[in-house]
Amino acid sequence: MNSHACLIITRQELSHPGTLSSLHECVPQGGYLGATPEVLGPDGSVLRLIAAALNSLRVSGHVNPLPMPEVSCAIIGTGPAALTAATYLTKAGLKPVLFDARPAPGWKLLVAGSSGLNVTYDCSEEDLPGFYTERSVEMAAVLKRFNREAWLKLLTSLGEEPYIGSSRRYFLRNKTAATLLKSWTESLEAAGAEFVYGEELVKIEKDPLTLHFAGGKTITPQAALLALGGGSWEPEPPKWPEMLRALELEVKDLEPSNAGYRIKVPPEFFLKAEGQPVKGLVLTTAKGEKQGELMITKYGLEGTPIYTVGTPGKATLDLKPDMPVDKLAQRIADGRGSISQRVEHTAKLSSGAWLLLKQFAPDHAWSTPLNIATAIKDLTIQLLQPRPLSESISARGGLSWDELDENLGVNRVPGLFVAGEMVDWDAPTGGFLIQGSVSMGFVAACGIAAQLKPRL
Ligand SMILES: Cc1cc2nc3c(=O)[nH]c(=O)nc-3n(C[C@H](O)[C@H](O)[C@H](O)COP(=O)(O)OP(=O)(O)OC[C@H]3O[C@@H](n4cnc5c(N)ncnc54)[C@H](O)[C@@H]3O)c2cc1C
Repeated sequence: MNSHACLIITRQELSHPGTLSSLHECVPQGGYLGATPEVLGPDGSVLRLIAAALNSLRVSGHVNPLPMPEVSCAIIGTGPAALTAATYLTKAGLKPVLFDARPAPGWKLLVAGSSGLNVTYDCSEEDLPGFYTERSVEMAAVLKRFNREAWLKLLTSLGEEPYIGSSRRYFLRNKTAATLLKSWTESLEAAGAEFVYGEELVKIEKDPLTLHFAGGKTITPQAALLALGGGSWEPEPPKWPEMLRALELEVKDLEPSNAGYRIKVPPEFFLKAEGQPVKGLVLTTAKGEKQGELMITKYGLEGTPIYTVGTPGKATLDLKPDMPVDKLAQRIADGRGSISQRVEHTAKLSSGAWLLLKQFAPDHAWSTPLNIATAIKDLTIQLLQPRPLSESISARGGLSWDELDENLGVNRVPGLFVAGEMVDWDAPTGGFLIQGSVSMGFVAACGIAAQLKPRL
């Protein structure tokens, strides 16, 4: 089981720019992940970073082994929920076998790590569940059993150095998810866990619990944890909702969450504006207001404020929230040149904010310092639709909590547990998604250990 695989990435399919959607060929021999040059083009940053992360990640485990290993405790998925569950199952003396459809572990974690991985958030234990909005009650019970400190302790034990960065988010000092995945999977293998890649779960039967994989193999574990993720950022919609509905379980439709929005603007705007940051603004919509930074993309806006309060319809931007309108107007009045030059030199707007102002400020706003200061403080834009699930950071919806017991066991399917983003909860970006997933992984592990340990 400790033989290492050398994963050669020979082809990439881009479901949308920035996503390495599939990794193809796996060669089970000692070595490291390798990427052929075409994997690095034609897209920019995210793809390159993921490829670089993959390059530094040694993968061990089997790819499509024949025959399937004996499995008493199965985990499907190798994201943060699955790896946390495996950690505590091995600590309980169990030897879980982890399966993933992909040829390497933790793909979504690598994606998250390519854009500044926030692993949790610095707030009081009482305040944390509130970020899980409609599911704060259910998540409070989960987060209490595996809180931020427990997660930070686990990260530290894996050699990571978490620290609090801007906006109270915790980051990892070494910045990449690849090193975390490497040390995590290695420590799990050392503790007796096994990894099997390239096996896609396609069907579940109960009595007895039987898991069927795409290639025709089946296992009949005593307990199985599903940690299949929420289906965001995936090239195809996930198949597990139908798999669970076939068991007559209630699954709420998956919808994009933490997604960018298209804005109503002529397409030429993006020729100049794509990639420009809009710093330190306050966005107000019908859903509320949120301070933060936005990025102009090739279709609209991305960033925490839009993820948090984005909703179709009118939105207003305060591009200078720290300055009252009269002071801003005075500053502009004291400048030299045309109104436009004065705004440019005195208001000190970020490049994206300046482009938005020029695009959306009504003509009459440029007539006096007070009018343009008012526009800077109250700029109206129209948000259209959110980006689809395949381009969103997380998903809303998933398996209903009504189907679960307090250990995340599925009431109507004995031996089956679930954890992570596939359950019906959601949270903003900022570390809450990973914190929620790992806390659920721990709780499910407790349920599985309680079920299996007496049989050991
Ligand atoms: C661009 C981006 C940036 C992000 N940044 C952050 C961040 O900074 N902080 C944060 O907290 N969260 C972030 N997230 C969200 C975070 O990555 C997820 O919430 C988290 O990974 C969910 O963990 P999980 O274990 O539930 O599922 P996942 O990590 O999604 O893992 C699910 C696994 O199951 C496998 N799988 C799925 N279906 C099958 C099947 N049928 N058979 C076998 N295997 C299957 C998948 O291949 C995958 O490996 C980000 C997400 C994206 C897309």
